[in-house]
Amino acid sequence: MEKYDIIVIGGGVVGTAVLRSLSAYKARVLLLEKASDVATGASRANSGIVHAGYDAEPGTKKAYFNVLGASMFPSLTAELHVPYKMTGSLVAARESGLPALKELLDRAEKNGVKAEILSADQVRKLEPNISTEVAYALYAPEAGVVSPYKLTIAQADHAVVNGAEIRLEEVVLDLRKEGDEFFVRTDKGEYVASYVVNAAGAGASAINAMIGEDAPEETHAVGDYYILDSQAAGVVNTVVFPLPGEKGKGILVAPTADGNVILGPTSRKVPHDEAEVNAVTPEGLALVREGVGRLIPSVDLRKVIRVYAGTRTAVGKDFIIEESTRFLRYFMLLGICSPGLTSAPAIGDCVAAAAAASLGLEKKERMLPLPPKFRLTEADSDTIRDKVSADPAFGRIVCRCEKVTEGEILAAIRSPLPAHTVDAVKRRVRAGMGRCQGGFCRPRVMEILSRELGVPLSEIRLGEKGSEIAPYEVKQNYGKI
Ligand SMILES: Cc1cc2nc3c(=O)[nH]c(=O)nc-3n(C[C@H](O)[C@H](O)[C@H](O)COP(=O)(O)OP(=O)(O)OC[C@H]3O[C@@H](n4cnc5c(N)ncnc54)[C@H](O)[C@@H]3O)c2cc1C
Repeated sequence: MEKYDIIVIGGGVVGTAVLRSLSAYKARVLLLEKASDVATGASRANSGIVHAGYDAEPGTKKAYFNVLGASMFPSLTAELHVPYKMTGSLVAARESGLPALKELLDRAEKNGVKAEILSADQVRKLEPNISTEVAYALYAPEAGVVSPYKLTIAQADHAVVNGAEIRLEEVVLDLRKEGDEFFVRTDKGEYVASYVVNAAGAGASAINAMIGEDAPEETHAVGDYYILDSQAAGVVNTVVFPLPGEKGKGILVAPTADGNVILGPTSRKVPHDEAEVNAVTPEGLALVREGVGRLIPSVDLRKVIRVYAGTRTAVGKDFIIEESTRFLRYFMLLGICSPGLTSAPAIGDCVAAAAAASLGLEKKERMLPLPPKFRLTEADSDTIRDKVSADPAFGRIVCRCEKVTEGEILAAIRSPLPAHTVDAVKRRVRAGMGRCQGGFCRPRVMEILSRELGVPLSEIRLGEKGSEIAPYEVKQNYGKI
């Protein structure tokens, strides 16, 4: 039985943040994730907003971790080479919404967040396309947008570079404590650990039940989204929200960190057994169109290239971020719904500090940096020339829409946490994320994966087990490059 100092269960943005922070200490750490990659749960399908922190109730864990987390994004994303823009955000209101904006401003002040109420003219200077019905808006200049899955992957990569281990496609089936040790049983084996962190998102209550902790009831709400082509960029410059309501922050229009435009989300309650389905509905999408029409009427829905859905998991009103008093050295992260993405880096540091104090871990002298990856679209002509002459694969474009080269795809397959499915490649380098949504490049990505992994084309998967794209005999030279 392999022994670790700390085992983290769940490879979302929270679990990988914890793992990365732990990898700064001299300890043997392991993350177990049941899916084929990190960032396949709520951390893949969300709005990607780094919330400024005016919305969370003062005094709550949500407020504390949101504000601290948001302040970490500029340096963290620079260090991990993750797309992030501090765009600012607006909560737009009609004449009658002014008292509600004042309440938000009051919360912003209590939470220590920069914000001000703008007049209609000031709002239109920032957002010329906003509805003429908008009379005021709360402006938070320090809100931003980030690529949530690239952040999750980069945190995982950085942790691996610093000695942490990640095992994918390994589901935790049982957790028990005997004496000072935890026994973590998965579908592939059993591990012993001195400390366990439960960061299993929609599966976190089930993990609590395994060990015998309280397993609070979770509620799940699906959010439907549209993504617009990068041609639509510029329709908004900031993150534009309506006034928040009972169901959350409402349907927003925002630029994405990668240059698209995002519309959504809804908030549709679903039962627990549908928490991982993540499917849009026509009714949900109709609600998005309606909400967007009230905020930015000129949004061109002919520019839609993708719809998707993500599911929030909540437990009561606040995050549960605490070490168990019943099972010492068992740390619980439950109900990490919005603003969980924003809070993740701060949660990671908090959990790592608690584990380190409890186990008496020493900090490493320094962490190894995560080397930057070459991106054709971001490089200048001298760098491109040098790169292509050193390796011609960086001169062969595979994804025409996003201009992704074979060299970049190979780098994703060979990264610290290697991509071994088509979707894992897509999340790392954007091959298949453009206007044609993989219509042209998918067979070529499959061929590269087949060649690199040394498996037949028929075994190449889109994502999870059972998602083989061409499970029957195919011409093996199709798409050869
Ligand atoms: C629609 C929507 C919009 C949102 N918008 C924002 C936003 O704009 N800004 C913001 O700050 N936050 C936002 N959030 C919240 C944010 O996305 C989440 O708080 C965050 O992603 C939660 O991360 P996590 O790591 O806890 O969960 P997840 O990403 O779900 O990760 C949990 C992982 O645990 C794994 N797991 C579960 N059970 C087991 C098991 N038994 N064994 C092994 N692995 C297991 C799962 O496979 C999963 O990968 C939004 C969420 C949604 C759904």
